Amino acid sequence: MKIQLPKDVDYIIKELQKNGYEAYAVGGCVRDVILAREPEDWDITTSASPIQVKGIFKRTIDTGIIHGTVTVMLDKNGYEVTTYRIDGEYEDNRHPREVTYTPYLSEDLMRRDFTINAMAYNENSGLVDIFDGLKDLEEKRIRCVGSAEMRFDEDALRILRAVRFSAQLGFEIERGTLNAAKIKAENLKNISAERIRTELNKLLASPNPDRLLIAWELGITAIILPEFNTLMTKPHKKQKESYGVFSLQSIRYLREQVLPFVKGKEKEASILSWALLLQGLKPEEGREVLRRLKFDNETIDYVYRLLTWCDYEFLLTPWEMRKAVNAIGKDLMDMLFSVKEACILTEKGSISGGKGEDLEKARELYHEILRKKECVELKELMINGKDLIELGFKPGKAMGQVLGELLVSVLKEPELNTKEKLSLMAQEIHLREA
Ligand code: ATP
Ligand code: MG
Repeated sequence: MKIQLPKDVDYIIKELQKNGYEAYAVGGCVRDVILAREPEDWDITTSASPIQVKGIFKRTIDTGIIHGTVTVMLDKNGYEVTTYRIDGEYEDNRHPREVTYTPYLSEDLMRRDFTINAMAYNENSGLVDIFDGLKDLEEKRIRCVGSAEMRFDEDALRILRAVRFSAQLGFEIERGTLNAAKIKAENLKNISAERIRTELNKLLASPNPDRLLIAWELGITAIILPEFNTLMTKPHKKQKESYGVFSLQSIRYLREQVLPFVKGKEKEASILSWALLLQGLKPEEGREVLRRLKFDNETIDYVYRLLTWCDYEFLLTPWEMRKAVNAIGKDLMDMLFSVKEACILTEKGSISGGKGEDLEKARELYHEILRKKECVELKELMINGKDLIELGFKPGKAMGQVLGELLVSVLKEPELNTKEKLSLMAQEIHLREA
């Protein structure tokens, strides 16, 4: 087998070899090029120690030096170069207590999670595939390297990774690995929220988000996302299936028809996916889930607001739309439309007629507001606190109420949003209150 390595990777491997060491591209990148997928990053494994690696390349960063990893910088790109290692005994199904370097590539491959992730490649040796990873790739199978139960005892995250790869690649999990996952699912309680969040996000962003159902069947979600188990028993208010099943279908529609998950849109895709996944929960409950998984505040806040508004039915007049946008917030509108569209597609299979048509009308009304630059938020009012003080108002809470009152008038009649008109109205209020 011949693999075309990127120029930089080829250079790093050859430099290491010139200095008398072994070096290979390894893991996910080898798997991905064989599958003709774009690798996320290129990892290199070598017999050289971190210090030796640092001696060979001009610019390096000690990314994970205790685990044997040095990042070699070429131009603006970084490549992780890791010394052949054996992971020592594991603590709490979590971290290896210690890592030991080894002179043997085979031992480094043996510590890896799945056969498809345990292949190495360089030009001289070709593909090094001691666990039949290539065959598993061809037969679309996720299989642990060695005894699955032991591997899941060492690091329980691998249980979730198996499901995640199965969703990303559309592969089946081999029977022995599947059984072991079921037996060991409970070990996931020892895994940090951050690591779980990363895997769940990758799963939801994959072409097969509905494979979360495998995690449910295996007893994985009961440990890491018990709310999903609740949603699997909660009947959807309009459909015959449960919220859990409905939500996963809606995430697939989101990806396939509403918002193609493109590079640079990962965060928005993640926010929308979580809002869809948790739509059967109360907003507060959804927020708790994301807090527990240690999501960033922006994501938590957007999802909370989407859960608050996802069932809202727009009234289709310009005035009602302005009031709605004011209450919902402009920053949420496009995401809210996307969530609603995914749900309608899941319910009806299409966006034409009925609810889909209403949604399109709401979208048009909203875009009309944007086109006409109509005021829907306080900060778009042509008068502000400073102006009111000049008109004789005292700073304080009452002033906020006056601005609020002016905004209500402007929502009703957008033409009122000029400085002169609002000043006059404010003066009237001032007189009335005096
Ligand atoms: P991705 O496309 O998500 O980057 P990947 O296979 O490259 O997939 P990484 O998490 O980047 O996954 O890890 C790189 C390699 O390190 C894997 O291919 C695998 O060989 C090994 N690896 C990663 N995590 C584990 C783990 N928990 N247990 C054993 N080996 C692992
Ligand atoms: Mg990777």
